[in-house]
Order: sequence, then structure tokens, then C-alpha cells
Amino acid sequence: MLDVIILNASLPDGRSPIDIGILDGRIVAVERALVADAHEVIDAAGQLVSPPFVDPHFHMDSTLSYGQPRVNQSGTLLEGIALWGELKPLLTQDAIIERAMAYCDWAVAKGLLAIRSHVDVCDPRLLAVEALLEVKRRVAPYLDLQLVAFPQDGVLRAPGALENLTRALDMGVEVVGGIPHFERTMADGAESVRILCELAAERGLRVDMHCDESDDPLSRHIETLAQHTHRLGLHGRVAGSHLTSMHSMDNYYVSKLIPLIREAGVAAIANPLINITLQGRHDTYPKRRGMTRVPELLAGGVPVAFGHDCVMDPWYALGSGDMLEVASMGLHVAQMTGQAAMRQCYSAVTDTAASILGLEGYGIAPGCRADLVMLQAADPVDALRLRATRLMVMRAGRVIARTPPATASLSLPERPQTVDWRLRGNQAG
Ligand SMILES: [Zn+2]
Repeated sequence: MLDVIILNASLPDGRSPIDIGILDGRIVAVERALVADAHEVIDAAGQLVSPPFVDPHFHMDSTLSYGQPRVNQSGTLLEGIALWGELKPLLTQDAIIERAMAYCDWAVAKGLLAIRSHVDVCDPRLLAVEALLEVKRRVAPYLDLQLVAFPQDGVLRAPGALENLTRALDMGVEVVGGIPHFERTMADGAESVRILCELAAERGLRVDMHCDESDDPLSRHIETLAQHTHRLGLHGRVAGSHLTSMHSMDNYYVSKLIPLIREAGVAAIANPLINITLQGRHDTYPKRRGMTRVPELLAGGVPVAFGHDCVMDPWYALGSGDMLEVASMGLHVAQMTGQAAMRQCYSAVTDTAASILGLEGYGIAPGCRADLVMLQAADPVDALRLRATRLMVMRAGRVIARTPPATASLSLPERPQTVDWRLRGNQAG
């Protein structure tokens, strides 16, 4: 006797119709015409049943703080950092927790059940670290929150930052962050990468650095990150976030760089909404898009995931925790419009992101945790096109969120009474 059977699911890999059997919070069967009894039967009616969305790059300590104490006038990364610096002394632990918990509610409703969040460790009080560790404990039953010790003001540039970062790791933050392009010099940036990679190697931790988040084609810290990753044997445990300078680099240099990134097993995390918004701000026309070279990295064998990065904070006024919006922007900015490329964009916010985080039991196969999202779409491309409604979100076999299907009623002569935007067309009501 199973706990739940989901009938007639379409899986992201195209298999359909498939039945999914769930027992004790785990998937125990994924097959056609499953013969078993269950306490609860859910008919997916051919709709997409996917593993949950995963955000590999976020800032939960600043989310939902938009307008405090003022808004970013220039729209640049640097004004955003300065603005965050103004807000930091005013923060309280309770306010950070309250905003982060509210964001997690939004995330769950959108089927986003795993988030890697950077947490600023440059405040010696480590208020945000304590707050997000508390949030991580509170949301653990329904959302995996992985924290990165992020020295926003530069691990060498800001006094005491390395000590604070180390304290944050001692407190339970599990990934080492960095921001080499914000250090005072290129040489300091490279030195920060060395120090932080060695710290991660000593402690057996993963690394995820904000790396080369600029339009400067000579910002080449990703090369140094790949070098130390290779030297220290950290293959498969390191991610370079943003890498926007690659957009502006010389093509010959990139033809050498991408194989080095691949050799080191370093993953790339682009943040399409934020990159297209913050980069190119010093350009007139033509104006650079600023996102890293996603299709070229993928073609070179480098895993690429997409992050949300910001929602309603000093850097970005919009966002709602919708990883389909993130993937859709990535698809457009990278011009990844072929069928296979669009599916890669879906993977960039699901399984590729999950593998970068090192999530255990992620996926739709026997033995995986029964974390699932049922979408009002037939396949991943349709899900992207429609930013499809998350009809049902399940965590460990239990339904934790539902949204009614998106539909509209029409009052037109000789036309159907309802429309639901799927390819099958208007369905008569
Ligand atoms: Zn970031």
C-alpha cells in the first residue's frame, strides 16, 4: 500500500504518461501503468510533473528590503553595494528573519524548494548570519537553504572580513564565497581567490564566488579560480557566479579559458535578470547585455545554472521567486531558442542547479525524495513559454502548496467560453 500515486504525469525528459508511486516521503516507482493501491491518487492528466525548482544564487539577507533606506538611482552594482552599506547598520535580526520567511513562502508557492543564498559576513555582529541560520532551521522541513559566507566588501579590502568569514563557517555556514573583482587591485583579487580556495580545501567545503561581475574584459579572476580549483583538487565543488566580464572578453582568450574552466570542473552560474539589468550601464550604444557566454560554456562542457540573485532589494526592484521567469530571461538574453537549448534553460533552474548545490535525492527516480511540482503545461518548453502555474507543490510526499489553474472566461460571439493558453488551443467551456 503506497501513500500517494500520481497518475498520467509527463516528465521533463519527455516520458509520458508515467505513474509515480510514493511511500514514506520517497519515490518508489516511476513507470507506465503502475499497478498498486494508495491512500491518495492524484491525476496529473498529462501535465508536466517536475522536480522542484532550485535557485543556485540568491541574497536572502537583503531580499524584500526594496526602498530601505532609499532606492538605487543609478541602477549600478556599485550604488547597490553602497546602498546595502547604508542599510546594514539599521538591520535587526527579527526584520531579516521576517523578510526571509516571507520570501520562502513565495518560493514554496512557486515550486522553488532549494535555494543557495549568499549571506554578507562583513558586519562584525554577523547579524545576518545568525538570522539566516535561524531561517534555515525553520524552513528545513520544506525548503533546503544552503548558505554561502559572502564578504560583500572584499575579504582583503574590508577590515576583519576574513576573520568574520571564518567565524561564519564555524557557526555552520557551509560554502565559501568571495568577490575578487571588488578587491582594491587585480593582484588583491587573485590573492583573495587563493586564500578562499585554500580555506575551502582545508575545511572540505564548496566554493561559490561572485566572480568578474563587471563589463571589464580584463577582469579575469575566473582564470585564477579555475587554477586554484585544479591545484587544490576541488573539481566539481566550485562555482563561478556571474562571470559577466566574459561577455566582453576577447574571443581568442575565451577559446583558451573555457577548456581551463572545464578541466577544473568549475560550474558557471549566470543571473540573467540581474546581469541584463546591472551590466552595460556605462555604455552608450551599442549597449552590452553583460550575461556570460552561456551556450559557449555549455558547448565546452561546463555546467551552467541560472540564479535569481535579487528580489526587491538594493539591486533589483522586481521579482517574485519565479525561476521560470529567470530561465525565460536567460533563454532570451542568450538567444537559446532551439528546442534542445530551451530544455537546457529549464535544466539551469532544476537539475543542473541541484547538482551544483550537491543536493541529495533530487530527481524523479526510485529512491529520490518525493519533492515534485505539477505545472499547468505539457513539457518544459511550454512551462517556460507560459511561466506555467504551479498547480501543486509536494515536499517528501506531502502537498504543501496549490494554485488554481490559470484560465480566463471569454464573452465573444462564436468563440469558446474559456481560454487557457496551452497549445491544444482554446477549450470550449
Ligand atoms: Zn549575487
